[in-house]
Amino acid sequence: MNPSNEPSFRDSVDMMFNRAVALMDLPPGLEEKIRVCNATYTVRFGVRLRGKIQTFTGYRSVHSEHMEPVKGGIRYAMAVNQNEVEALAALMTYKCALVEAPFGGSKGGLCIDPREYDDHELELITRRFAYELIKRDMINPAQNVPAPDMGTGEREMAWIADQYKRMNTTDINGVACVTGKPTNAGGIQGRTEATGRGVQYALRAFFRDEQGKKKAGLEGKLDGKRVIVQGLGNVGYHAAKFLSQEDGCKVVGIIERDGALHDEAGLDVDAVYQWIAKHGTITGYPSANCEADGAKLLEGECDILIPAALEGVINLSNAERVQAPLIIEAANGPVTAGADEILRKKGTVIIPDMYANAGGVTVSYFEWVKNLSHIRFGRMQRRQEEARHQLVVDELERLSSDSGIGWQLSPNFKEQYLRGAGELELVRSGLDDTMSTAYDSMAAVWHGRDDVDDLRTAAYLVSIDKVAASYRAKGL
Ligand code: NAD
Repeated sequence: MNPSNEPSFRDSVDMMFNRAVALMDLPPGLEEKIRVCNATYTVRFGVRLRGKIQTFTGYRSVHSEHMEPVKGGIRYAMAVNQNEVEALAALMTYKCALVEAPFGGSKGGLCIDPREYDDHELELITRRFAYELIKRDMINPAQNVPAPDMGTGEREMAWIADQYKRMNTTDINGVACVTGKPTNAGGIQGRTEATGRGVQYALRAFFRDEQGKKKAGLEGKLDGKRVIVQGLGNVGYHAAKFLSQEDGCKVVGIIERDGALHDEAGLDVDAVYQWIAKHGTITGYPSANCEADGAKLLEGECDILIPAALEGVINLSNAERVQAPLIIEAANGPVTAGADEILRKKGTVIIPDMYANAGGVTVSYFEWVKNLSHIRFGRMQRRQEEARHQLVVDELERLSSDSGIGWQLSPNFKEQYLRGAGELELVRSGLDDTMSTAYDSMAAVWHGRDDVDDLRTAAYLVSIDKVAASYRAKGL
């Protein structure tokens, strides 16, 4: 994907890290301690499929254990390799610190094209991979907690959780060994769409920041902004759907692995998603222009570009031609270090991956806490909250009637005010709060320091500072 004169993904992450630490005053040696990846475990295992043994290669990398458990998704893709997994694990460390999820960073991957296998085969492969990691405590509720990533979802997480429970029958917290599970198997409401929802909240936070908008040359609200999204998977689909259906954005372009759709009038995200689910391809979608060279649309005219597929897609070969004034990195590492420099010089504002896609790990954190507390959020207080609100409404209505004023509370107000928060409302509230708080902490550095001219450096400064504080507290 990257031109050969570009650094690897891992080097790209390190270069961005180095640019930030050059502006910090860390004790000697701590910078390297934070930067390096603590350990990467490679596993090769065989599974008997279709009459012969097939050998698979997988990885689990632990970047930093300044907090435990360490956390990070498991990716299923043919391009998975040690370098990529280590880069992604490093990003997890910085991401968790930035959004104050109390985890170290980790990541896993399996070299596999999941589309080549049926459900039963994928279950066998996933269970075997999980077995290899569980027996080495590389999946464990107290030490290392995976989640979904590219090519995996709640189904794979449910298999992993079940495998852990089979191997640890007396661990009462076993279900917390992995997050992103289905709600009927220990998951939490709102996790599936959490990363896309987080992208939406991140953009809302950005559009409340007048100084930030000015730097990008943008004005007004999200309403009417033209969006191009790459990758209509879990993250891209939910982000595009929420932005178009709830914030009035116009999704004018959708890029998938086999082409791109373009329509200035705005695409129906759900219809495209359903088309792909049914036909397995974006091509042939009837109501838009389809271009075979999908990646070309990354250079298309729009207000917001959302790369939500894979790393390195905006690189030295196309960065100069990217027209979007605002890029939000929904995927991990979609902009290489070289492209980042070109875009910064052009004045493009980039909302960095470690913040933009942190919604997933944030809601994973809520799921983990729910699993450890063995009770769904809101279960104890919801009815009590509703009863107290009912008291206020009854009293207001009595006062209004007794005084003869005759005020009526609108049915809409009553309905909203009387309804106590359930799990989904609490998850959304926690996610919104997390994304807003983290944005403010980055923006304070971005706008407040003369030597910081981009959000990525600001994000690194905030998160490295937190990781360093953790190490200092440990006496390191
Ligand atoms: P996914 O597998 O659900 O979706 C990926 C999508 O990208 C698919 O629709 C796929 O067809 C498409 N795609 C693949 N190659 C492409 C190409 N060359 N051009 C255009 N589209 C292409 O994966 P996901 O979970 O949505 O993850 C996407 C990105 O978001 C990854 O970088 C991942 O690390 C990151 N991320 C995911 C989560 C999460 O909760 N799932 C959390 C944080 C970050």
